[in-house]
Formats: sequence, structure tokens, C-alpha cells
Amino acid sequence: MAVSNDCLFCKIVAGLIPASPVYQDDAVTAFRDINAQAPIHILLVPNQHLASTNDLQPEHDALVGRLVRTAASLAEGEGIHHSGYRLVTNCGREGRQAVMHLHFHLLGGRHLGWPPG
Ligand code: 5GP
Ligand code: ZN
Repeated sequence: MAVSNDCLFCKIVAGLIPASPVYQDDAVTAFRDINAQAPIHILLVPNQHLASTNDLQPEHDALVGRLVRTAASLAEGEGIHHSGYRLVTNCGREGRQAVMHLHFHLLGGRHLGWPPG
């Protein structure tokens, strides 16, 4: 598994930094965002280090499917799959990505505004 010693989310995946865990399997880790922007704000990350969607290769197609389907499953578990939710990933400077380990934000539990700022 490719990990980066300098990466916050790699350390959370490895259990070296505590986080509020939601789900983990051999490919995906999910935990609650430390600065929640909605009543439900879960981050889903690949266990392997990929910096952003820009790093995705055809070999990662199944992994992305796992991430997205896990998000939908967690939304159901959180009781927001009928009311609705948002699944977003920020990429790069103008996308306002702060942590350079690919992650999806699962946001829900309130009426979300659009367009995002
Ligand atoms: P980005 O802006 O890169 O898309 O999102 C990074 C997210 O990681 C932010 O929503 C931020 O609140 C969250 N975050 C940053 N540091 C930590 C941490 O140490 N623990 C947890 N659980 N979330 C974090
Ligand atoms: Zn990482």
C-alpha cells in the first residue's frame, strides 16, 4: 500500500492520528470531518495515498467505485439517502483542496446551498 509519511490522511488511515471513525475496509476509510459544515460531514478516503483526482489512473476505477458506493451506503446508514446529500471532492488550489490526499466529502442533514462559494 502506497502511503506518505507526511500525509495527515495516511496517518488517520493507519490509526496513527485519532479520528472519529465511521467505516473502514481494505480499500476505503471514512471518518467524521473535524470541522463539520453540515450535521453530517463524513470524509471518505482511499487507504492508499493518491493526492487528488488528478492522480487517478484506469487501475483506480474500481477504487473510485468503492468510494462512491460506500458514500451512498453511509448516507443510508446516516438516514439521509431519501432526504438527499452532497458528495464532493475538491481538487487543487482553485478547488480549495487543503489536504493533498484524495477525499470525498459526504454532506447532509440540512438543505445545502448551491452554487458553492
Ligand atoms: P479539503 O479542503 O482538502 O477538501 O478538505 C479537507 C477537510 O479535512 C476539511 O473539511 C477539514 O476540516 C478536514 N480535516 C483537516 N484536518 C483534519 C483532521 O485532523 N481530522 C479530521 N477528522 N478532519 C480534518
Ligand atoms: Zn496520504
